[in-house]
Amino acid sequence: MSFNLNTILRPNIKNLKPYSSARDEFKGEASVYLDANENAFGSPLSQAFHRYPDPMAYAVKMRLSEIKGVPARNIFLGNGSDEAIDILFRSFCNPGVDNVIIVPPTYGMYEVSANINDVQIKRVNLTEDYQLNLEGIAEAIDKNTKLIFICSPNNPTGNSIKREDIETLLANFNGLVVIDEAYINFSRQKTFIQELTEYANLVVLQTLSKAWGLAALRVGMAFASEEIIEIFNKVKPPYNVNEASQKFALEALRNVDQVNDWIKEILKERDALVLALRNFDFVIDIYPSDANFVLVKTADADGIYKYLTEKGIIVRNRNKVELCEGCLRITVGTNKENQALINSLKKLKDD
Ligand SMILES: *Cc1c(COP(=O)(O)O)cnc(C)c1O
Repeated sequence: MSFNLNTILRPNIKNLKPYSSARDEFKGEASVYLDANENAFGSPLSQAFHRYPDPMAYAVKMRLSEIKGVPARNIFLGNGSDEAIDILFRSFCNPGVDNVIIVPPTYGMYEVSANINDVQIKRVNLTEDYQLNLEGIAEAIDKNTKLIFICSPNNPTGNSIKREDIETLLANFNGLVVIDEAYINFSRQKTFIQELTEYANLVVLQTLSKAWGLAALRVGMAFASEEIIEIFNKVKPPYNVNEASQKFALEALRNVDQVNDWIKEILKERDALVLALRNFDFVIDIYPSDANFVLVKTADADGIYKYLTEKGIIVRNRNKVELCEGCLRITVGTNKENQALINSLKKLKDD
């Protein structure tokens, strides 16, 4: 058995004739555009937004291609990586028939997106040290298993998944292995985007929402074979990345140095935060992090969470998540914000 994209594609998608927009049908330069029913007079704004955006966000992809060292034809851009997750379900999973594997504790959207698309979820929990249970995954795979979602560095645990284990899945699974690298910019581990020629069943997700500081723009990326990217483009809404997002993303992508400086600073702050947190009696464990957050096991997650909220400090309470009992997930903030957190925690005993 070996991987064959055509056998995992949904028949309705294989036969789909995609919507052809005005900007798809005429791509060149012209002086008069009367083809898309836009308002030719302009926008009631200081900037022009009266023309539909480039459906393929080509300029942004070209810049990303330079930064990432991956050809533009291997890049999909979505309205957040959440859109790429949804498109994976809609392209490859027949509702009520197919299933996907997730490895909790992990990012919640895989499951929500599966539920929206009426696709069965098979859960194979991570081990106690938050690594893959490869035997369990092998047992869970059946002929209708289309996708396996691996988040690395993982949210909410912060650790990276062992590369050899992911490679084992890539080499042996006949569906798609989706590696969510939302936090890769903070990690010491190597990205998988250079392995696209090696593995036809690899999909890597990244985003501009975290290290790039553009969560509000909603720009997510998927990296995969040209054939997979073509399917994504067929299924996506025609203008899924809006003009404001394309414009600002392009501008931001010129400031790689600024982002790299912030990453260094965030990692420094993370290490300082970990050291400071270790001093508290109620901190039982702090898990090693390759991301811009730390997962902290405490003696009373609900109590500390509530206390911090009252001080105006919001962390993520993961107490109810299996394998994360007692845990708070804390994003690394600015030095001032981290100090505010530590100072409040110091006063916890007195209150
Ligand atoms: C934050 C996050 C994302 C980002 O999603 P966007 O829709 O691109 O903002 C994706 N995956 C994981 C694991 C995340 O934590």
